[in-house]
This record gives sequence, C-alpha cells and structure tokens, in this order.
Amino acid sequence: ELILAFESSCDETSVAVIENGHHILSNIIATQIKSHQRFGGVVPEVASRHHVEQITRCTEQALAEANVTYSDLTAVAVTYGPGLVGALLIGVTAAKAIAYAHHLPLVPVNHMAGHIYAARFVAPLAYPLLALLVSGGHTELVYMPAAGEFEIIGDTRDDAAGEAYDKIGRVLGVPYPAGKEIDRLAHLGQDTFNFPRAMLKEPNLDFSFSGLKSAFINTVHHADQIGEQLDKADLAASFQASVIEVLVTKTLKAAQKLQVKQLVVAGGVAANQGLREALTSAIQAQMPELQLIMPPLRLCGDNGAMIGAAAHIALRKGTLADLTLNAIPGLDFPYQEEL
Ligand code: ATP
Ligand code: MG
Ligand code: FE
Repeated sequence: ELILAFESSCDETSVAVIENGHHILSNIIATQIKSHQRFGGVVPEVASRHHVEQITRCTEQALAEANVTYSDLTAVAVTYGPGLVGALLIGVTAAKAIAYAHHLPLVPVNHMAGHIYAARFVAPLAYPLLALLVSGGHTELVYMPAAGEFEIIGDTRDDAAGEAYDKIGRVLGVPYPAGKEIDRLAHLGQDTFNFPRAMLKEPNLDFSFSGLKSAFINTVHHADQIGEQLDKADLAASFQASVIEVLVTKTLKAAQKLQVKQLVVAGGVAANQGLREALTSAIQAQMPELQLIMPPLRLCGDNGAMIGAAAHIALRKGTLADLTLNAIPGLDFPYQEEL
C-alpha cells in the first residue's frame, strides 16, 4: 500500500509517500518560517501564496525520491483541518486534482490525528492509548480507545503551549517560532522566578497558559522599568519549568486514571528536550509499565509523513472523501467531559 500524503495547514508545505502506514519512502518539507519571521507570526495570505508556489515541486520531489509514479499509488491523503483555511485549501485542491486525474481514493485526515500518528514511525500503537498533543495551536489530552477513535479529555482554556512559547519569545527577543531557542536557553539557566503552575491541583485534566505568559511578561516589563537586567537563561528555565510541571503532572494523572497501554507525545512542542526528559523520568519513576512513544524531532513539527500514517488507519476504516471535500479550519475531536 502506497499513500501520497499532503500537509499544508499552516506554514509548512509537505508531501510524503508512505508505505503500509509506517515506512517513509519520502517526506519533503518546505518551511516558510523565514517569510513570516519579520511579522512575528504566520501571516495567512503569505502562507497560502507560498503553498501555491511550493506544492507542485514538493509533489514531484516526493514521488521522485520515493521512486514511484502515480500509477503505483493506492490512495491520496490530505489534511483538511484544523488550520488556516487558505493554506488548507491548497493541499486539499492538489489532492483532489490528483485523486480525480489518477482515479485514486481520497482520504481526508485531521491534522491533529496526523500529529498523533507520527508515533507510528517509532513503534506499533497499542490501545487504549493516551496522547499529549502539544503544538502551536493545541494543548490537549486525547484518549484513543481504538485505532482511529479520538476523545479529548483535557484541553487548554486559553493559550496553547506552543503559542505561549512564541509569545514570551517576543518579549525575550527570540524570533518566531521561539520554542526551540527557549528550550536551548532553559538548559543554561535555573528556575529562579517560580512562575505560577496554573490548574495543577484542580480536579480536571485541563490546562491554562495565559496566566503564566502574563506573569512572565509583567516580570520582564517591571525589570525594564526599574532598569534591572534579568538573566535570560533563568527566565527561560523558569518559564519552561512551569510548562513542563503542569504538562507532566496532568498527563500522568490521566494515564493513571485511564490505565492506558501507551503514552504518545505529539505536536511541535513534543520536540522540547526538557519535556521529553521530564516525561521519561516521571514515567520511569511512577508508571514504569507505561510505554512512552516520542516521535523523532523532525516528525514532531508539521509534515506529510504523519498524514500518510493517519491515512493508513482511515483507509482501513473506509473513511473516504469525494471531490466535494472542503477545508474545515475549526475541525476538532469530540470533547469527553467524564472519562
Ligand atoms: P497545530 O498543530 O496546533 O495546528 P502548528 O501546526 O502551527 O499548530 P506545530 O507545527 O505542530 O504547530 O508546532 C509549532 C510550535 O511548536 C511552535 O509554537 C513552536 O514554538 C513549538 N516548538 C517547536 N520546537 C519546540 C521546542 N523545542 N520547545 C518548545 N516548543 C517548540
Ligand atoms: Mg509550523
Ligand atoms: Fe501542527
């Protein structure tokens, strides 16, 4: 089985060829970060334009690198949400055109399901499974009773974790997207500021990061006003310590409650070294029987390979779209209050 998979939900144009849902034949990723950096975030119109310019080249390169032609393909898959509507539409249109021209089934994929299925390149997945989905737009605990079934059991009340990283990055003078650089700085400093750990003790699995973001920004602004120099590495370490403590505590609480077999960490923030280390040691100490799966760093951010892995499951379940498939910017998993 060979799936040609498209991803264009935000600022990466990516096309991949995936064999049997877990073998990457090619995974071309064209990032637009440089074009958005001077604006401090993704500009939707600029993103769409870049996708239009890149998608044909990425498709040709993905097929060439995988050494396959359209006639070898089993299906075409595409992210149809959540994301920026204009960006999503480029991938959706390309996938529909190829499905139509080459008489191939069209598999619609939820971008967040894709992030979770990036774990499939590390190990076979076993259910029930819990995913900590931490990215630029989402911070969710997702329960999967079986393959292809998703229930949100915890969510952020305000900012996503990645969004908080990017926002405090502006105050620290770190260019967008700031997560990777703040992670690096954090390893050079100490948690001296003791920022709040929001919702840590509340009897739910939800998160909140805007209070932490405000505390951080106020601390820096106050120091600026009185002409005090704060240590950037300590600021980064203190911010990251708060984010990690909340994420790890709530994730382990959910894993314990639901008695899951595996924990998958997914999304751009899953690339965070501090988070990866903290989860690894917390699980070793508290739940050694739980299998932790963390995708390699280059599969944590947006990519076509993860969409191909998710599409493999969708195809087996018979989830197909026709040529009326449209982009759904607010596409989400169902929310389960009590599990
Ligand atoms: P979503 O997946 O929710 O639609 P997105 O696709 O824009 O949003 P991703 O591409 O999955 O998000 O992740 C990008 C985010 O990951 C950015 O906010 C970035 O700062 C963050 N990030 C990347 N590397 C790290 C890191 N090492 N530590 C913390 N955050 C990181
Ligand atoms: Mg991105
Ligand atoms: Fe993403």
